[in-house]
Amino acid sequence: MRLSKFHLHTTKETPADAELVSHQLMMRAGMIRKLAAGLYTWSPLGLRVLRKVENVVREEMNRAGAVELLLPTIQPRELWEESGRWEKFGAQLLKIKDRKQADYCYSPTAEEAITDYARQELGSYKQLPVNFYQIQTKFRDEIRPRFGVMRAREFLMKDAYSFHLTDADLVREYENMKAAYTRVFTRLGLEFRAVQADSGAIGGDASQEFHVIADSGEDALAFSTGSDYAANVEAAVAAEPAPRAAASEALRKIDTPTQKTCEDVAALMGIALQRTVKSVAVVGEDGVFVLALVRGDHAVNEIKLGKVAGLAGYRLANEGEIAEHLGSEPGFLGPLNPRKPIRIVADREVAAMADFVVGANEAGFHLAGVNWGRDLAEPDTVADIRNVVAGDRAADGGEIRIARGIEVGHVFQLGRKYAESLKASVLDENGKAATPSMGCYGIGVSRIVAAAIEQNHDAAGIVWPAPMAPWEAVVCVINPKNDANVAAASESLLAELLDAGVDAVLDDRGLRPGAMFADMELIGIPHRIVVSERGLAAGTFEYRARNAAEAENLDKAALLSRLG
Ligand code: ATP
Ligand code: MG
Ligand code: MG
Ligand code: MG
Repeated sequence: MRLSKFHLHTTKETPADAELVSHQLMMRAGMIRKLAAGLYTWSPLGLRVLRKVENVVREEMNRAGAVELLLPTIQPRELWEESGRWEKFGAQLLKIKDRKQADYCYSPTAEEAITDYARQELGSYKQLPVNFYQIQTKFRDEIRPRFGVMRAREFLMKDAYSFHLTDADLVREYENMKAAYTRVFTRLGLEFRAVQADSGAIGGDASQEFHVIADSGEDALAFSTGSDYAANVEAAVAAEPAPRAAASEALRKIDTPTQKTCEDVAALMGIALQRTVKSVAVVGEDGVFVLALVRGDHAVNEIKLGKVAGLAGYRLANEGEIAEHLGSEPGFLGPLNPRKPIRIVADREVAAMADFVVGANEAGFHLAGVNWGRDLAEPDTVADIRNVVAGDRAADGGEIRIARGIEVGHVFQLGRKYAESLKASVLDENGKAATPSMGCYGIGVSRIVAAAIEQNHDAAGIVWPAPMAPWEAVVCVINPKNDANVAAASESLLAELLDAGVDAVLDDRGLRPGAMFADMELIGIPHRIVVSERGLAAGTFEYRARNAAEAENLDKAALLSRLG
């Protein structure tokens, strides 16, 4: 591949709507272009990365014994009526009419379609277990699409669905998929964590999420330093039988001045605290509040907050209501930094504070003001809060810590819900009809691209983990038009790299070195080799790894062994 014949189009400008560094860099590198809200074109460069991720996912799914198929994206209303999700799925489900006015939806997930396939295809226990998967476009009419392909409306998902005669066999495949996911994210070179999850709209029993760890992540994860316990805060709260009572109790105990992070308080109260939340709060009937409030239009996950509110019997309140309850003026709430320590203070001090988060209960308001200067609180009360987060699941001598994550994968044990409602059955060993048990397993293929950048970038641009780089190596040709020797040496080096199995590209665009190198750093190519007249005269190539501070001069043998 020659860049002179490829469409590479980098830009210096950062679009105004791009808040996250991954969105900015994907735009500047020219990997994606916006068509409309939540709809992105993948450029030739972006597509190379997307395909690499897709292939790693495909290889590991195949290796784990899953079989690939492809379901339609447009699906009839009748099918979704059978599962009850035509109504239940909510506004994320894009509904479409055809020319005969028949109703369809664009698949946001495919339990119905795969169960329809299964009820036609699977007749005997001998065909089980089986795990079907596809890598297919999904559409969800997200309430606020943002962060580029991170939360898009149209996106690429790997979704797999397994069918089993027994629940024990479902559990076996669930573990098999977790192992496959672990291989996928390890191979992609990402720092990730598997956590207990809320099963959300899809329903079902056991469920875990895989998160790429990043400060910009929308989810708060609680994990123990002393045991394997790790959960999405959403799930930690959902699993807590009486979250309001427990939270009130914990708040009561911390009425002396002490410090927490905003995340601690949010976790305590059972909301996934987002970086930037627009005038929302959760209010319990007993007067317990938590606000997670920041100016601006960014990141509350309204759906999650709504879900938690529903679950715990909380409702959403606006800033005015809270101000009234506190006897303060509306507008008194300032910006919130989720990572700064906060101080729990007494009621009326609040009016004097510009920045705070908060908790209040009927025994007196306990407002958590942001205290920029001090360290985390004394262990006892922090432990109280953390125990609420962890429920009875032990921190086991360790501490419960909070990290932020980007959900890139999700595995569920669905059970028989879909098979029952769609009347899928197989004959068991005794010739009796049996309803198969199901699992489902998703990976956000396109989201992984953005998540990887959140984790791997520097001031010059993207620093791809090699397995997902658009090319592993670039051969930069200095002055190709005027120097036939350099051009020929570059071509033959490219051929040798390709022969050695290195996914290499030639930058023969004839740019000045500075501009050429800046482009290659921006698009994150792991290995850069410069071919120049001077180097050739000395019998060397200039080599620089994307994450190395210095370049070095290597002869061809050394170079090839470095890249091999
Ligand atoms: P989120 O909590 O981020 O909204 P989800 O729990 O709704 O995600 P799932 O139904 O579990 O998503 O779908 C499987 C995977 O698809 C997710 O783990 C995520 O990686 C990816 N995904 C979901 N929604 C989007 C989206 N709007 N844009 C890109 N990827 C998405
Ligand atoms: Mg969602
Ligand atoms: Mg989720
Ligand atoms: Mg999920």
